Amino acid sequence: MAKQKKVASGEASSEKQIYDLKQLLEISKSLNSVIDFSNLIEAILYTCMGQMKTLGVAIFTKKNFDASYFQLNRNYYGFELRNDFEYSIPEDHQLFKFLSQKNACITVSEIKESGITIDKPIEGLIALEPTLIVPLKAKNHISGLLVLGEQITAEPYSAYEKEHIMNIASLAAIAISNAALLEMTTTDMMTHLKLKHYFYTVLVEKLELCESQKAPISVLMLDIDFFKRFNDTYGHACGDVVLQMVASVVQQNTRNQDMAARYGGEEFVIMLCDTPVKTAEKIAERIRNSIENLDILYDGQHLNLTISIGVAQYNPTIDLSARNLVDRADKALYNSKQNGRNKVSVAE
Ligand code: GH3
Ligand code: MG
Ligand code: MG
Repeated sequence: MAKQKKVASGEASSEKQIYDLKQLLEISKSLNSVIDFSNLIEAILYTCMGQMKTLGVAIFTKKNFDASYFQLNRNYYGFELRNDFEYSIPEDHQLFKFLSQKNACITVSEIKESGITIDKPIEGLIALEPTLIVPLKAKNHISGLLVLGEQITAEPYSAYEKEHIMNIASLAAIAISNAALLEMTTTDMMTHLKLKHYFYTVLVEKLELCESQKAPISVLMLDIDFFKRFNDTYGHACGDVVLQMVASVVQQNTRNQDMAARYGGEEFVIMLCDTPVKTAEKIAERIRNSIENLDILYDGQHLNLTISIGVAQYNPTIDLSARNLVDRADKALYNSKQNGRNKVSVAE
C-alpha cells in the first residue's frame, strides 16, 4: 500500500490521492462487472467498508425499478435494527429534495438543523444513528442512500474522505442505475418474470458453464390448462390476475441462481441450475401441486386452475443448442397435455 501521510486536516498527500484514484478505477471496473442486483449491493457495501474504514454500512434502494419508495436492503453491517420501524422512505420525501439540492453527504444533525420533520418514514434512518448519510446520485437522479457508521479509528470523516465517498457513491449509483435498466428491459411487466430473449441469453451462458463444470441443468416448461376459459368466462382482466398468481408461485419455487421467464402468453419456462432431472421433477411436482391448491378470489368467485409441465435435463450429446433443450421440455409438456393435463412429464 502507498504511504498515506495526512498533509493537514481534511487534505491528503498526493501519494494518497493517486492511490485513491486508482482505487476508484478498480471500484468502477468491479461494480460495472456485477449485473446481478443483490451481488451488486454486496459489492458496494464491502467497497464502502474497506474504503471508509468503517464496520457500519447499510443501503436504502428501490426493491424494483417501478417501486416508489426506498427500502433498507437486508444486507447491512454494524447497525441494530428495531422491529417497530419500517425503514422505508417514499421517493418524494423532503429528505431527497434536500439531498438533491445539497449534492453532498450529510449528518443527522444537518438533517435536524435543515428543518426537515423527523416523521415516521425517516424515524428508522435516524434511529440507526448513522455518522454519515450519502446520496447515491447519478444522471441527476437519486437511486438510493448509503448509511455509514463511525470509522474504526473513531475519528470524524475528513472533508477529503467525504469527497472520496461521494465519488464512490456516484460510481455505485451508475452501477445501480445500469442494473435497474437491465432489469427493466429484461422483465415482463405483468408477471415480473424474465422475458424469453433474456432467458435464452442466460441459458446459453449457463450451458457452456455446465459443460466445463459438469453441473447438471434442467428446464421446466409450464402451460396453464384451459386458460382460455378464464378469459372467455370472466374477462381478460381475470386472465391477467390468474397469470400473475401462477407467476408468483413459479417465483416462490425458484432460487436465486435459477431463472423463471414468461415464454409466451400463458406459458412459462424455468431454468434450474445444479439440478439433475430427478430433483427437477420433484420441483415441478411441487409447483403443479401448489397451483392445483390455489384458491383465487376474483370478483367474489373462487377460481381454481391446473397446469401441465414438461421436464428435461441438458444432455450435451443431443442438445446441440439451448433451443433443442427447451424443445425437448416442450415435447414433454405436450405429453402432459395429451395424458389428461395437470401432470408432470419427463423428456426421454
Ligand atoms: P390448453 O390446456 O390446451 O393449454 O388450453 P388453453 O386454453 O390454455 O390454451 P390456448 O393456447 O388455446 O389459449 C391460450 C390463451 O391465452 C389465448 C390467449 O387469448 C390467452 N392469452 C395470451 N396472453 C395473454 C395475456 O397476457 N392475458 C390474458 N388475459 N390472456 C392471454
Ligand atoms: Mg399455451
Ligand atoms: Mg394453456
